[in-house]
Amino acid sequence: MEINLISDTVTKPTRAMLDAMMHAKVGDDVFKEDETVNALEEKAARLFGMEAALFFPSGTMANQTGIKLHTNPGDQLICDKYAHVYNYEGGGVSFNSGVSCKLVDGHRGMMTADQVAACINPPDFYHSPLSKLVCIENTTNKGGGACWDFAELKAIKKTCDENDLSYHLDGARLWNALVAKNESPMQYGELFDTISVCLSKGLGCPVGSILLGSEEHIHQAIRIRKIFGGGMRQAGYLAAAGIYALDNNLNRMAEDHRKAKEIEAVLNGLSFINKVEPVETNILIFQLGEGIDDTAFLNELEKLQIKIIGMGQGKLRIVTHLDYTDAMHDRFMSILKSMNIKKASSI
Ligand SMILES: *Cc1c(COP(=O)(O)O)cnc(C)c1O
Repeated sequence: MEINLISDTVTKPTRAMLDAMMHAKVGDDVFKEDETVNALEEKAARLFGMEAALFFPSGTMANQTGIKLHTNPGDQLICDKYAHVYNYEGGGVSFNSGVSCKLVDGHRGMMTADQVAACINPPDFYHSPLSKLVCIENTTNKGGGACWDFAELKAIKKTCDENDLSYHLDGARLWNALVAKNESPMQYGELFDTISVCLSKGLGCPVGSILLGSEEHIHQAIRIRKIFGGGMRQAGYLAAAGIYALDNNLNRMAEDHRKAKEIEAVLNGLSFINKVEPVETNILIFQLGEGIDDTAFLNELEKLQIKIIGMGQGKLRIVTHLDYTDAMHDRFMSILKSMNIKKASSI
């Protein structure tokens, strides 16, 4: 039995999800004639209390479209140094929108309203890029699945309003935050100008993300998505998976969080592990003890058919998900408990 904990994107659709996909009523979505895509977009917009939504092939494209909507070339966006839009979208911020990022040195991918305020360039000082947009991420990926304090998000919103900045949420794993903190999508819909959410992570769909915003923003977003090459035809087969997932796979994420916390407890008891970042959702980031080789540890796991991933700078990551079963969890936990990795020098 292979145990793949590299990411929550590795899930495959279940029989029930595939059934929903196979029976979808479809049309040409580029002409907005796919009733299943339309239904998913309406469902998502209603869930967040936002005017409109648009289905995307990827979270990257949804974020990049959000950024394009709020900026002009030469402008600057403000985000944490760990932000996905800065680190993991291939430099799309500059490629697609011609904007630069002002990076905040936050905590676990999260920043304060004061830190954001300190990054805003005076609009009349034309030597500096014009600050236009704040992007935040919840949960934070590189920050180890940490969830924001909602009060801080509100404080940043106030800073945005006072300085004429737009506010975009990269909510690839917002679902995890909603479940972990018992928050509602409506709270987020009220606060942000645009929100992207992924269907292909914790929710277990094979493909898809959604961008939420005002009628006007989403109307413009359709054009941008087309320019980015993201106009899809009978996409209802994919959207049906999204509808199924929202109805069936949301609340069960608590189980992924419980398993991640159980792994955290075991890791904390292992002598060769130095530090585990506090687990709040389905991501664990940890570091091995000094002198202990990452690759030796990863190879040892690989031999046992267990896959996890390195994040650079000695950090390793485990992500729990829908396809990580109870049996896999039991096996992984007992393997971890029996592992004994020694310093390279003492072998
Ligand atoms: C996964 C992810 C995305 C979107 O990635 P895609 O692979 O393009 O779907 C965006 N933001 C964060 C924080 C993510 O983890």
